[in-house]
Amino acid sequence: MPICRVRAPARTGRLYRASRCTSGTRRGAYPTFCPDNGSYAFAEKCGILPQERRVVPLSGKIDTEIFGGIILSAHNRYRPFVGSVGISGRNIEYVTPGRKDDVDAAITIDASGKIIMPGLVNVHCHGDMTLARGLGDNLTLQEQNAAFEQNNWFYRYITDEDRFYSRQLTYCEALRFGTTFILENMYWDLDGSAQAMAQTGIKGALAQDIRPDFTKPDKLMSEATVRDFAENCEAHGLIPVIGSISEEDFEPELLRRIGAIVKSAGLMQTFHAAETRWRQDIVLRKYGDTSVSLLHKWGILCEDMICSHAVYLSDEEIKYLAASGAKVANTPLCEMKIADGIAPIPAYLEAGIPVGLGTDGAMWNNSNDIFREMKGMSLLHTINSGIRTLSTHDLLDMATIKGAALFGQEHRTGSLEPGKAADIILVDSTGPHMTPLRFGHRENVASCIAFCATGADVTDVFVNGAHVVKNRKLTTIDLAALSDKVTRASERLSDKLHAEQAHKN
Ligand SMILES: [Zn+2]
Repeated sequence: MPICRVRAPARTGRLYRASRCTSGTRRGAYPTFCPDNGSYAFAEKCGILPQERRVVPLSGKIDTEIFGGIILSAHNRYRPFVGSVGISGRNIEYVTPGRKDDVDAAITIDASGKIIMPGLVNVHCHGDMTLARGLGDNLTLQEQNAAFEQNNWFYRYITDEDRFYSRQLTYCEALRFGTTFILENMYWDLDGSAQAMAQTGIKGALAQDIRPDFTKPDKLMSEATVRDFAENCEAHGLIPVIGSISEEDFEPELLRRIGAIVKSAGLMQTFHAAETRWRQDIVLRKYGDTSVSLLHKWGILCEDMICSHAVYLSDEEIKYLAASGAKVANTPLCEMKIADGIAPIPAYLEAGIPVGLGTDGAMWNNSNDIFREMKGMSLLHTINSGIRTLSTHDLLDMATIKGAALFGQEHRTGSLEPGKAADIILVDSTGPHMTPLRFGHRENVASCIAFCATGADVTDVFVNGAHVVKNRKLTTIDLAALSDKVTRASERLSDKLHAEQAHKN
């Protein structure tokens, strides 16, 4: 079979947009760009030419040119090259080796000494928990849940305003550390949730619990309320997601009702799946089977489902998950910190299940930094299954393009390609912890990103073309004032919890 290869004339004054293969063995894949000969090609033999490439005349004027950095992205399987990225409006106009001499950029940014990457994707977080950072240290998840069930734990000492700012601080932390897309998984609804996200400039998804009160799991939101929620998200540029019930409340009829509501609204759903043994045991005692197996048997697993954590799945359940098209949101640092267990991530990848990286809430992590999740994911599976269990590219995929794929957004974000949203981060590569950064034949750029960098190395962030972090400073929010508000709220609740404890003693 011939190799898919289409030459793109490099200096015609036109820009070339690579299109995805629409048939053949590489269906849905993007051809990769070869900086040496200026052509796009699929890495392996396919026999099918990529869909006709759209040729976009270049007006010569663009908004922003980022040049001189090392480009690292899934579009060419992370083969780094020194190049530039052009941004027009909300989108990437071009990605090219070197610089284009036929463009006139309103703003030029010299990215020498930096790595230019797609923004990272955090597929699971709870922003309310940021003001409780450190509060869950040394407590098991069961002990924490018991405190919530008993009298709402610290939640009875915080206001909606506290929660709004806690969430905003979470998104600011995420942005500062290079995350451009985040899933906020709301336990408790909050007026202004969509505004809290949108004001920071981050993009993402908002998951609304289907239960208005989750002490009453069989009482569900009405279809009209779900529709209003979805419209409000969309008005703020966010993806609406429905949070489904936890395993301990599983009932087949209830799950079918939820599935019908979600389907009729055309949304995705997410739930905490097989996260802990004690939750699995509740289901096992009730139904004599485990949760994912039950979802399969009840006909509820589907491709619009994001399973959070997914730690305890049997080989059989992994097959069910893969066949259904459901996805996995895994949070390795959180799962280590609260001793959830080790998810069979290598088996998920082997089965073709899309896996994204999340941080979970800051009470269980205690940071919102996807760079650290990449390293944590690698080390966890190295100690568990051996040195070569996950590749550096697997880690980068989970942090970018695969994370985006959980929300069906891989065509819009997660890699640097013309026509995609300009969700771009610049990572300083000059620090001693990033040195030596080798380039060329024996390069170690992807390795430095996965194992050496942290969010603190991110200097600049663009979301939909907007420069939301500039030289490590947020341009959208007064971070000092926001941090102050969250600190005061945290001190207040900490004082009250201590006073309560002193009274008990
Ligand atoms: Zn969670």
